[in-house]
Amino acid sequence: MPLTLTTRAVPPVPSGAGGPPGESMTRARIPALMRGARGRCPACGEGRLFPRYLKVAPFCPRCGEELYHHRADDAPPYAVILVVGHIVVPLLVLVEELFQPPLWGHLALWLPLTLALSLVLLPPAKGLLIALQWALRMHGFDPSSAEREPPPEGATRPPLTPAAAPFAS
Ligand SMILES: [Zn+2]
Repeated sequence: MPLTLTTRAVPPVPSGAGGPPGESMTRARIPALMRGARGRCPACGEGRLFPRYLKVAPFCPRCGEELYHHRADDAPPYAVILVVGHIVVPLLVLVEELFQPPLWGHLALWLPLTLALSLVLLPPAKGLLIALQWALRMHGFDPSSAEREPPPEGATRPPLTPAAAPFAS
């Protein structure tokens, strides 16, 4: 009886969905944090983390990593309030000491600056936190976690692009 060997392409498994064989249990934190702060997928650094302002994609459109496990909640706004407060308040005091502008001058200066800084800093703060949760395998980002939940209703894993799925045929 002749022996026949068949090969079958095995699609790669995103690391968040159990991880490919041999994947390290530790995830590089610094590169993941840099990717998250840039609004990119912490796993591959290519897919956009936010399809809209602060709206997190359920899956990475590039590598299929499950991103819906994040629990950013109110932490990014807290961090942004802390940072923006430490920028704006000393500047306000300094300007008051040096120039004593009228109240409307303060309002015209600090309200737009506070709003602009907050809006600019929120996406990187949220991306950084999500990347940290991913790197530390917090919540559902750990494939063996009891906290893992099914994808949100209507969210489907995107088809892998040829660059992200070199073994798919
Ligand atoms: Zn990705």
